[in-house]
Amino acid sequence: MRKYKNDGKLKIPKRRKSAKKSEEDIEIIEECFCHNGHNLISNRVKFNECNGIYLKIKDKEKQGYVGISPICGCKMRISIDVDLTEGETFEFFCPECDEKLLVYSPCPSCEGEMITLFLNKEADYTHCLGICNSVGCPQAEVRMGDEIRSCLRKQYHDETHR
Ligand SMILES: [Zn+2]
Ligand SMILES: [Zn+2]
Repeated sequence: MRKYKNDGKLKIPKRRKSAKKSEEDIEIIEECFCHNGHNLISNRVKFNECNGIYLKIKDKEKQGYVGISPICGCKMRISIDVDLTEGETFEFFCPECDEKLLVYSPCPSCEGEMITLFLNKEADYTHCLGICNSVGCPQAEVRMGDEIRSCLRKQYHDETHR
């Protein structure tokens, strides 16, 4: 486990807050990258006019592509050439370099793994997103790295205080 510079004031670049002043601020991921710095946001998948996160997925038998909503809190996904069955886990790959995306942590909600999407080309774990590789998991929406960390801390706390 690497150490995080966690001063509680994580500055995340390239996030756009909705111009409309609504109760809940909508956060949209405009850029995210694989560990080799390839942009994973693509206009091949669209969610509410926004370009989606486009990833290659594989399991033992099949492979295809998945489009993930870039809107935080939105679980919408589009699958291309592959069926997504509830509870199934996939390995996620960069469509550009075809390398397997790095695992951020175990998923706080299921047996799956949180896959890392970096918010800058430097593959900096303090500026990243995570997404669970299991279909239908509550973490199957983009999560900020600090959110995952607090989720894992809470889980650890719950487990040790049972
Ligand atoms: Zn790549
Ligand atoms: Zn999960």
